[in-house]
Parts: sequence; C-alpha cells; structure tokens
Amino acid sequence: MQTGKIGVTSENIFPVIKKFLYSDHEIFLREIVANAVDATQKMIAVAAKGDYKGELGDKTVRVSVNKGNKTIVVSDHGIGMTEEEIDKYINQIAFSSAGEFLDKYKDNIGAIIGHFGLGFYSAFMVSERVDIITKSYKEGSKAVKWSCDGSPEFTLEDAEKQDFGTDIVMHIDADSEEFLDESRINQLLTKYCKFLPVQIAFGKEQEWSDKEKKMVDTDKDKIINNTTPAWTRKPADLKDEDYMNFYHELYPGHEDPLFYIHLNVDYPFNLTGILYFPKIKNNIEIQKNKIQLYCNQVFVTDSVEGIVPEFLTLLHGVIDSPDIPLNVSRSYLQADSNVKKISSHITKKVADRLEEIFKNDRPQFESKWDNLKLFIEYGILTDEKFYERAKNFVLLKNIEGKYFTLDEYETLVKPNQTDKNDTKVYLYATDKDAQYTYIESAKAKGYDVLMLDGQLDMHFIGSLEQKLEKTRFARVDADVISRLIQKDDQPQAKLSDDDRSNLIQVFNAVTPEKSYFIVEFEDLGADAKPLMITQNEFMRRMKDTAALSGMNYYADMPDNFNLVVNTAHPLITKVLDAEKDALGTALAEIDTKIEPLNKQKADLESQKKDKKEEEVPQALKDQIADLGKQIDTLRDEKDAKLKAFGKSTPIVKQLVDLALLANNMLKGEDLNVFVNRSVELLQNK
Ligand code: ADP
Repeated sequence: MQTGKIGVTSENIFPVIKKFLYSDHEIFLREIVANAVDATQKMIAVAAKGDYKGELGDKTVRVSVNKGNKTIVVSDHGIGMTEEEIDKYINQIAFSSAGEFLDKYKDNIGAIIGHFGLGFYSAFMVSERVDIITKSYKEGSKAVKWSCDGSPEFTLEDAEKQDFGTDIVMHIDADSEEFLDESRINQLLTKYCKFLPVQIAFGKEQEWSDKEKKMVDTDKDKIINNTTPAWTRKPADLKDEDYMNFYHELYPGHEDPLFYIHLNVDYPFNLTGILYFPKIKNNIEIQKNKIQLYCNQVFVTDSVEGIVPEFLTLLHGVIDSPDIPLNVSRSYLQADSNVKKISSHITKKVADRLEEIFKNDRPQFESKWDNLKLFIEYGILTDEKFYERAKNFVLLKNIEGKYFTLDEYETLVKPNQTDKNDTKVYLYATDKDAQYTYIESAKAKGYDVLMLDGQLDMHFIGSLEQKLEKTRFARVDADVISRLIQKDDQPQAKLSDDDRSNLIQVFNAVTPEKSYFIVEFEDLGADAKPLMITQNEFMRRMKDTAALSGMNYYADMPDNFNLVVNTAHPLITKVLDAEKDALGTALAEIDTKIEPLNKQKADLESQKKDKKEEEVPQALKDQIADLGKQIDTLRDEKDAKLKAFGKSTPIVKQLVDLALLANNMLKGEDLNVFVNRSVELLQNK
C-alpha cells in the first residue's frame, strides 16, 4: 500500500468546501453522477475512434444506497483511471494551484467547483471517507483503490475489479445521513440528472405481486432519466405533439402551453433549449421562474432571475448551454458577459417567434392573445428592446372582441376620435357591465371602446401614452363623452349663474355623504341622461396606483366624482322650474337684502383700495368684516332653503339615485330607499 498527500497546498481545502458549500450539499450527487456520465461518454468516443476494440457492454451508470454500510455507490462503465491518472486528476487538484485559487475565490467558493475540477471533491461535503475503485480501459491496466478520509492524506492500493470503469464509494458521515434515504436520492436524481445523456439506474422497476399483495421489485433496472430530451433533438425530427409531451414531462399537471420556441444557437455561443409560453392566468407571481437551466444536460438551477430578462421569467422550458458556468453564485452569473449575451439573444428569439406566428397565422395569434397578453405587456413594460419588436404585434382588443395592432387602431380612430388639441383619445372600459351606460354613449357618437381589464393594463396604458405620439387613454366613465373628446363645435350649457349656483345646492343636498361630488353643467342633448356621474381619469389612476403600491394615505382618500347636470334635459328644466316656484319669492327677498349690503361693502372696499394694509383704519376693517358676515349669513340662509328643497323634492333624489344606479353605486339601504320611493312615485301618478 502506498500513502501520500493530496497536492493541495492549503491544508484547509476540505473545511473550506464544507463550510462554503453548506447550503448546497446535495449537489455532490450531481457532480459524481456527471463525472460517471462523462467517463462513459469518453469511453463511447474512444470506441468510436477504434482505440478500443472490445465490447463496450452495458453502459448504464448505477446509483445505489446501502443504509447498513452507510454508503452511496456510483458505478460506471466508463474509461476508468490508471494510477497515474488518479495522481494527475484526483491528487493534484486542478494541477496544484489550489492554494492560489482558494485565496482568490474564498468568497465565492461556488466558482471554484466545476471551473477547477473540484467536482469530485464535493463528495466530501457529505462523506467521512470516499473510495475510488477504478480500472482503466487501457490494455494491461490494473485496478486500483484510492481512499481518503477528508484530510489531505490518502491511500492507494491494488484492487480487484473485473471490468474497466469506476466505482465511487461514499461513506456518508453522521450529519449527512438524510442522503441514505432512498427517496431523497431519488428526488435528487430527478432534480439534477433527469436529462443526462447516459442511462442512470437507481433501484428496480416494481410490479404488483398477487402473492405478496404489494408492489415488489422486478429484475428490470429503474432508469431515472430521459437521455434524449426534446431540446437535444433536431427540430425537423419533432412534431408539435413531441413538444407538448416534453412540456408535460417537465411540468406534470400543467395545462398545454400556447406556443413553443426551439432555440438552437452555435454562434457566438452555444445554446439549445425549448421555451414555452404558458397560459398566464391572473397572478403573474405564481407563474414566474419555471425555466430550468442546464449545462450539457446537467441541471444547474431553476431560479433564473438576473440570468434571463425579468419578463422572460414568465416563460417555461429549458435552456442548455455549456457556456453558462455551472455551480456559481447568482451575482457571478449576472455579471458574466456570456450570460448577458445569451439573455439578449433569447429576447430577440422570443420576439422573432411571436412576430412569425402573428404574420403567418394571425387568427391563431388572436385566439391566444388573451392568454399571451400579460406576457407581452410585461415585456413591453420592462424591456425597451422588446417593445421595439413587439410594437408590430401587440394587440388592442375592443369591447366587441376585435383585435387591432397599434397602427391599425390609430387608423381606425384617428378621424373621429381626435380632439380639438389634435390629440387622439383612445377610450377604454374595464368592466363592460358596470360601465355600460358610458360605453353606450361613446358608441352613440360612433366612437370605439377598448377593453382593458388585464392585470397590467393600467401600467401598459401609461407606457403607451409615453410612446405613442399625441395619444391619450381615457376610461369611458372619466367624463361625459363630449368632454372626453372635446371638439370645437361643442354646445355650451345655457344657464344663468344664479340658476347654476342654485342647482349646485339643490343636487349637492342629496349626493352620498361618504364621497365628494362636484356638480357641473353640460349640454349633453335632450336624448342623453339628465344626470351622469363620472370620475376624473387622473384622480382615479392615482388612487389605483396608490392602492397597488400600498400607499394607504392616497388610497384611503374619499372618492371624487363629478355629477354632470345635463342642461338640455327636460327633467332638469323641470327641477329648475319647481325650484323657482317653491323658492322664487323667498330667495328674491333674501337677494334684495343682500344687494344693498354687497353695494355697501364694495364702496367701503374701494376706500381702502390705494392704501397699504397698515394705513387702513381699524374701524373700516371692522365694518367690512361685519358686512361680510351679514352677507354670509344671508347666503347660508339661501343655501339652507335650496338644500331643504333638494331633500324634500322626490324627483331630485330620484334623479341622483338613477345616476348612482347607472354607475353601480347604489347599494344596501340606499338602494332599498330608492326602490320604495320609486313605488311611491308610481302610485302617486
Ligand atoms: P471535472 O469533472 O470538472 O474535471 P472533477 O473533480 O469532478 O472535475 O474530476 C476530476 C477528474 O477526475 C475528471 O476530469 C476525470 O478525469 C477524473 N474522473 C472523475 N471521476 C471519474 C470517473 N467516474 N471515471 C473516470 N475519470 C473520472
């Protein structure tokens, strides 16, 4: 027997490995199995070149767990190692510069593994001792056993081994006994080795035994991997069905995806993969981070944030690239220039594919739009480059369910929906039922209304307003239609100032108290509704945004509405006439009292006009203030009469309630009162 010291200059390599890789101990299995697969593939290559003339035999890599011995064994039928090779590849870690690189990478030990041939040593994260029993395929080779307990000392001795190949025997240490559990190993093999290119056997297939009344092992190996996953095959050899089947292999239980893209790049980097557009339902967060990253069919990670652009994390599928460094930390990956190139390349490919489907099969594209929309909007919102491509195929859907590109929609609405300031106004609804009245009045004008009820639509609108020239979005209920798209020939509401201020009091008396209403006047035509309730676009968006971002101060502010009085409606004339009948004389009396006071006050004010504040005599100031008070009192008296009139006149309350009802704003007790009042009104007819 021979003993020696491993060529690591630092004595501390194993403690370092154990410490820094603590959270990721499970990757040892991937490293050891990947080495076995490598050795097997090398053996196949050697045979193909004719350097080995014998039979290759069974190439399966076998993994077994022995709870009694506390070992995990990975056996392959690959090229094996000679004594010299063990010395070179195992003893001289990374050709000896270990001390140097340990220093350099001590904060990022992950980068060492894989890059510097430390893969094998990861076995020591879980083992108190590791044996390598190996025999090279080379003629005349002897089998050797290398053994090491995690200190830099190892032993090397002759061994018995019939066939070429390697057995790695890991004697699992006490704190890692979880790995002696077969189901845990099964889970790890499924996670990391599911698509490795050489068959991997773990345990046996089972079948039902009538005799024993339970599942029992058969003789057949249970193969845990698919050695030729779809992404490694030529697109020409694959049918739609194969892509769908592979999707379900990756994500059992998921709905069929909408589209797929087969990536196949060999310049300026190597990359293969298949990306799928899933049906994205409401919540994008749940859908994120399903892409799996592989390096030569070895699973690396499924958290790809920072590796692919944010919006692409909504895609599902597989990316495989030998140029993506294995086993490195996220920050390392994000800074890697290859990774950056890969990410912008994928964005381009995704846009290409979408554009291709849009151009070649628009009906299909439209039929899937509702599920695709969130993804594309997300891309547009977060990636300027993607917008440059996507602006050709992003669709707007109107309430009739027709789809338009941005250009098409502009052409459609420009003639009719350009306002007097030359701004195109895109009208939209978020709820067909709740905003029905407003949609109807827009339609009556010949306007088109978009349906924008998606999770990202409000952000999307905001971004389009910045990107499209002279274009504004307005929700149909943001104002009366004639003011949403203002034209030059707008009829003016004909109403005296007195009538206006009186009606403001009358209607305000009956608007709901918990919200804030501003009464406005507009000539909407005799056919329009007598009263309309609208909510300012800007205010509403601000509140919505505040609510989304958890800014409760704004979100909790009372709602602001406009109560628009249609001065052209006969019922409004009727209210005005009734008010004049009921209060005309009383108000006129008050007015005759106010008038001289107003005059007096104006006279006094003119006296102090040219004087500086400190030159005005106190007596004058007091007199003005006193007159002001008297006028206010009289006005209050007037307002009180108007308010009382509003409250006691059923038609006023009825009109306001109808407007609230048309807006889905009349609920509970108020609704009940409205119904009762309606019945009464009908009976009184
Ligand atoms: P890497 O695989 O990155 O080179 P490892 O530390 O995992 O680094 O392995 C070091 C070397 O040891 C490998 O390059 C290979 O030459 C040899 N080796 C490891 N495992 C096996 C095996 N199962 N069969 C043959 N050679 C192996």
